[in-house]
Amino acid sequence: MIIKEIIQIGNPLLKRKTELVTKFDSMETRRVIKSLVDSLRYHDLIGIAASQIGEKSRIFVTEVRKTKYRNLKNDKLRVYINPDIIWLSKKQIIIYEGCGSVAYAKLFAPVKRPEKIIVEACDENGNKFTLKADGMLSRVIQHEYDHLNGIEFTEKITDIKKIMSSEEYQSRV
Ligand SMILES: [Zn+2]
Repeated sequence: MIIKEIIQIGNPLLKRKTELVTKFDSMETRRVIKSLVDSLRYHDLIGIAASQIGEKSRIFVTEVRKTKYRNLKNDKLRVYINPDIIWLSKKQIIIYEGCGSVAYAKLFAPVKRPEKIIVEACDENGNKFTLKADGMLSRVIQHEYDHLNGIEFTEKITDIKKIMSSEEYQSRV
């Protein structure tokens, strides 16, 4: 297990520019992926990006499932190396988001984003894949992709009057 502390909002490391991965089967890439997966599960998140654990590479992972914050339908563990969102639906929807980097996921707020997306990336074996996503998977991919570009969801909150603690979120939304 490689469990990393999650870097918190305000730390300039979250804004640092990330770099394309060039060596897919290197020890380094494998170590970053393992750190991401172990940290995602340990901190009970559904997505985590390399920038959040102080790594520079353009990698994030998602695993939509039931957590203490939300009761979601299971999606398998997915690794995205050098991701590119190549299509966004015109239709946008508002969903409450939280983040391991924002008060350790103790804060949730509404964010408006495209409902569906198509993402292209390489998996942990270096194989390129294209994925069309909707629902929470689409949402978490867009959120983690933003992290790789130094963007935090708090910059996109649609109504700051609707911010709530994770406990209120669990009981109300
Ligand atoms: Zn986040």
